Amino acid sequence: MKRKSEALPKRYHVLNLDTCMRCTLCANICPTYIASGDLKVAPASRIKLIKSFMEGKGENLTRELCTEAFRCTLCGRCMESCPFSIRTVDLWYLLRYYTCKAGKRPETLDSFEERLLSNRNPYGADSSLRTYWAEMLGISDPSGLTPRKAKVVLFMGCTPAYRSVAQDTLGAAVALLNKLKESWTTLGNDEWCCGCPLLMLGNREAAAEFARHNVEAVKAVDASVLVTICATCYKMFKLEYEELLGGPLPFKVLHLTELLSKYVTELN
Ligand code: SF4
Ligand code: SF4
Repeated sequence: MKRKSEALPKRYHVLNLDTCMRCTLCANICPTYIASGDLKVAPASRIKLIKSFMEGKGENLTRELCTEAFRCTLCGRCMESCPFSIRTVDLWYLLRYYTCKAGKRPETLDSFEERLLSNRNPYGADSSLRTYWAEMLGISDPSGLTPRKAKVVLFMGCTPAYRSVAQDTLGAAVALLNKLKESWTTLGNDEWCCGCPLLMLGNREAAAEFARHNVEAVKAVDASVLVTICATCYKMFKLEYEELLGGPLPFKVLHLTELLSKYVTELN
């Protein structure tokens, strides 16, 4: 796999910035702008901030102004409403990257990032307990849980693994994979967060390191398919990893529902 990721900004960032007409149509549906009425959080203001960084004027921006990058929820409504199909959310990630690089990110995010980097999950939970959910669910024979050579890797995801509210989804996924007699496994405690929170924090280098680790772990079990049950993990593997790592992944990425639909199609 080619491992060199392109430097930022990329061509599509520049094109999207140049295309924006500052029409403010996106502001009218932006939940943070609607809630605050504060022009500083409107998408067009944020585009001005990005341009300042790109023109090398980031030094002149105050931390307070840069904080605006983190008042956006990354919900993507602005992208849906833009008549020019500008990929606004990509621009908001770019702004967070610049802000992080310039050391102007809100300081309150630092401790969260430290926990994430040291525990490899956003909850600060013990990384050696990543598969403890199986015990909690009373799965007495977790046949595929311990990493082994298998066709399918079930990527557990931090929230399903560590939060009781989502652990049932993992139990259901295991039951389905066993019912289908799939050759499956997990990465066990070697699974790291997919890296999405790091991208959201603007720490692109760390997100790439997490992506690299997870890809190597999948390669180590020889899997040809990675299955996720979490929408965020799916987005990361499907849409971000190749760009972060600068090349195609050596395995297919499917949401569990996509894997199931393959069986439904075969049955028909
Ligand atoms: S991103 Fe699109 S909708 Fe928003 S101001 Fe620019 S052109 Fe208008
Ligand atoms: S992604 Fe950010 S800027 Fe766009 S609508 Fe959502 S909160 Fe507003």
